[in-house]
Amino acid sequence: MKKYLFTPGPTPVPPEVLAAMGAPVVHHRSPDFRPVYERCLTRLREVCRTQSDVLLFTASGTGAFESAVVNLVTPGEPHLVVSAGSFGERWAAMTKAYGADVDQLQYAWGETPDADDVRARLAEREAKAVWVVQSETSTGVVADVQSIAAAVKEAGALVVVDAVSSLGAVPCETDAWGLDVVVSGSQKALMTPPGLGLAAVSDAAFERRGSTARFYFDWERTRKAQRALDAPFTPPVSLVAGLDVALGLLLEEGLEDVFERHVRLGRAARAGVKAMGFELFSPEEDRSAVVTAVRSTEAGEIIAALRDRFGITLAGGQGDLKGKIFRIGHIGWFDIFDITTALAAIEIVAAELGVEVERGVAVTAALEAYEHSTVA
Ligand code: PLP
Repeated sequence: MKKYLFTPGPTPVPPEVLAAMGAPVVHHRSPDFRPVYERCLTRLREVCRTQSDVLLFTASGTGAFESAVVNLVTPGEPHLVVSAGSFGERWAAMTKAYGADVDQLQYAWGETPDADDVRARLAEREAKAVWVVQSETSTGVVADVQSIAAAVKEAGALVVVDAVSSLGAVPCETDAWGLDVVVSGSQKALMTPPGLGLAAVSDAAFERRGSTARFYFDWERTRKAQRALDAPFTPPVSLVAGLDVALGLLLEEGLEDVFERHVRLGRAARAGVKAMGFELFSPEEDRSAVVTAVRSTEAGEIIAALRDRFGITLAGGQGDLKGKIFRIGHIGWFDIFDITTALAAIEIVAAELGVEVERGVAVTAALEAYEHSTVA
């Protein structure tokens, strides 16, 4: 059966990227690898829109995030974690695990963090850093990181952004917005298999490193080695070769066009599910361009039926949302026909499961939302 991967990570990988990864393995300290490594690091800076070093780790996104925690947290120091879903809560748990004195600005899952709340919280209690998720993949909410970062800067704190599911899908202006650390992973909008984590680290963040013991994730060790194009540990050379090609594809399309495509895919997905009669869980707004979360008490059955009958993988809900929502990912190598395929199949299985869905309208609504929309 043909397989369709419509989850918010891992995401489908373009054939050019797979081909690059299938090339013979080269030695990481040889001239066969260095130009690829250098180009990949340069392209990462372009995609992160930063002049700072983007440190690459053989790890998933969580590992790259842990690099930020072990480099910035010294036990007992005050930190503020903003959470509104699964990943924000993970970062609260991780910063606490490393001994930070954590104040958690905790929203219900599905709510959108607000810059004024962050400002008010920092007025009550200072923090060395504020940890915030740009795209909370568990809910589909994309926060206004630009405004939140501005509030954090007013208070003189560092801002650390989880951009694991947003980098390369929605704007993330590392330097222009004053983001001190931006963390991401290879397996989402960067269109590469899982296995590479990255952290763009500003000089300000680098200078404020703490005293927690660290080795593999030590920023200084990786920064120094990367600057000499001499990775500190054996990098996954095939993944780096793939990521290099994937970043080239993103830059060739043009980041602004990539962002616009994601906005339009989000509009199309929302229009389609609403036309069928489903209720959205994720917000009805253009920023929500990463994943569309849909309420359904039959979510578990719909996901299972899609997989068994059509080879389609959607994501379910996490935590308390398990069994209550299904999520359609549309980040990375996605186009409108991925959305219409997902919608057409959802319509069939939902109707078979006895869900009251309006037939024959979702695909048309999605196509219209995609075609007849321009993004300012
Ligand atoms: N943060 C967000 C927003 C994510 O979507 C994910 C992965 O789903 C992570 C962090 C964790 O990344 P990883 O699974 O690569 O460790």
